Amino acid sequence: MILCADIGGSFIDFAVASPDGHLTHRQAAPTPVADLDSFVGILADLCAPWPGVPLHIAIAGVENPATGVVHAANIPCLATTDLSRLLSVKTGRTVLIANDADCFALAEARFGVARGHSNVFGIILGTGVGGGHVIDGRIVQGLGGVTGEWGHGPFIIPPPRVPAGMDLSAVIPSFRCGCGQTGCLDTIAGARALERLHVWAGGAPADSRAILSAWERKDAQASRTMDFYLGYLSSALALVINVTGCTVIPVGGGLGNSAALVRAVDLAVRERILVKEPGVLVKQAVLARDAGLLGAACLVAVHDKGAER
Ligand SMILES: [Zn+2]
Repeated sequence: MILCADIGGSFIDFAVASPDGHLTHRQAAPTPVADLDSFVGILADLCAPWPGVPLHIAIAGVENPATGVVHAANIPCLATTDLSRLLSVKTGRTVLIANDADCFALAEARFGVARGHSNVFGIILGTGVGGGHVIDGRIVQGLGGVTGEWGHGPFIIPPPRVPAGMDLSAVIPSFRCGCGQTGCLDTIAGARALERLHVWAGGAPADSRAILSAWERKDAQASRTMDFYLGYLSSALALVINVTGCTVIPVGGGLGNSAALVRAVDLAVRERILVKEPGVLVKQAVLARDAGLLGAACLVAVHDKGAER
């Protein structure tokens, strides 16, 4: 068995996982975001009934493969700590840590909609955009541990020469991103970003669910917004497919709950990739809130971190 924790900025979700993907002893606790001692103490208490059993963690952040330091924007107390080493010493067990979107992709590859596929790119369309790449049942950590972050890197960019007098802001949704760049997919493709895109495209302020249901009713303004949304998102995803060769893309996150949206993304993506008529590639994830825990449970130790720096 493996102890597993899915740690976000608000809650720690904890469970005991069996090798066949069964979760038992499920508990939740608030995440101490500002106090490292409390953070370690809560995890130590949760694990205490199972001495020596490994603890695997999915976290809303990225572990630097070189230093072990976890950068989690919503959990600032972790800022300078080699967390897996600290937890291992404090709790007397092996501790492995991975990004929660990576764990999502791994779980869907092992137990979910991507079962049977050896090359899986899982995407999260939630508050923001995330993703993870899994090959042969292992997360690809890659340079800096950020592989799968397909939402960043300027993608929505103005042409190199802009005709005099042309107002590009009216035709190109070019917003500043939290990563410091301008024009990342993350600035238009998460739930909050979709709401901003809708206003940019001429719509009245509305939440993402209202925009999607208006689009499904064929509302003209929502359709205009979603034309932009699907065009940019599916172009970025087509590039991901062409580069990675993945054969399935599980979609999680709040926007991924819309079957109509996932279907539309799949159709738009398949119009843009090099391989023609590959069958459905983009599919709704099936593991919901269990994905982080189940993915964490499937983590394996990386022994060649140096080669991946
Ligand atoms: Zn960005």
